[in-house]
Amino acid sequence: MSAIGRRLVSVLKELRNAATARLEVLAGTGEGQTIFCCNVCGRMAKVDKTRLTREEPSCRCGSSVRLRAIVHLLTMGLFGRSLAIRDIPERHDIVGIDMSGAAIYAGRLARRLGYTNTYLHREPRLDITAPGAEWLSRCDFVISSDVFEHVAPPVSVAFDNVLRLLKPGGLLVLTVPWAKDGETIEHFLELADYRLERRGADRVLVGRAPDGRIREYGNLIFHGGEGETLEMRVFSESGILGELARAGFGDIRIHAEPCEEFGILWKQPWSLPITARRPPA
Ligand SMILES: [Zn+2]
Repeated sequence: MSAIGRRLVSVLKELRNAATARLEVLAGTGEGQTIFCCNVCGRMAKVDKTRLTREEPSCRCGSSVRLRAIVHLLTMGLFGRSLAIRDIPERHDIVGIDMSGAAIYAGRLARRLGYTNTYLHREPRLDITAPGAEWLSRCDFVISSDVFEHVAPPVSVAFDNVLRLLKPGGLLVLTVPWAKDGETIEHFLELADYRLERRGADRVLVGRAPDGRIREYGNLIFHGGEGETLEMRVFSESGILGELARAGFGDIRIHAEPCEEFGILWKQPWSLPITARRPPA
């Protein structure tokens, strides 16, 4: 299909989705349902309240509570009020980067702000364990959503580097899965020069221990795919707050507050989104 054909199909789908959503909203809510405006796509959505979970898509565009919370916290941090992406003023002078940000909001944010989505394995490339000098002290904001649990240890390097990406006063919007209690659990503390290898149907992580021995780790946990989505650690609340403070962040906040207008509410006290700022110069 030609590019114009594909664009036409996508526009028609958007229109059909918008019309369906509108009809559903006009029909009112049934028991246990809620209506909200999706701050990613700008449409009204009606869902069972049970579907407002961190990860479950709860709008036709595919946004979850986590993704809408990122837009909410980003706009609160930049503009002092919560805005749907379509209502963000066009400000390409406000520069920020994301780390493998969700496609459903990345394109939309890039039309409003000086937003660049970056990737580990393709351009524009950013490895948070060794960011290129061109990224440093450039950003008014950095978004990192469910990335830091996959970064190679020691994770403190990534926290140091994310601070270095920001201008003084710049905003970090961070999500990672975290547990309420205890300490951060590192799965591969001794890891160096690691790689994944096949052992029959399983995969193992092979790495070099500090004493030079080669070690193999099994029972690996992957998030949503293979390769770089290997779970390296399970953060704890105190672990992540401690890393942010140690790296030099200020104004560190965990956001449990709901924003029902945009379909954001949290049923559990863990894995909540966090914001922090590089202190002003
Ligand atoms: Zn949506």
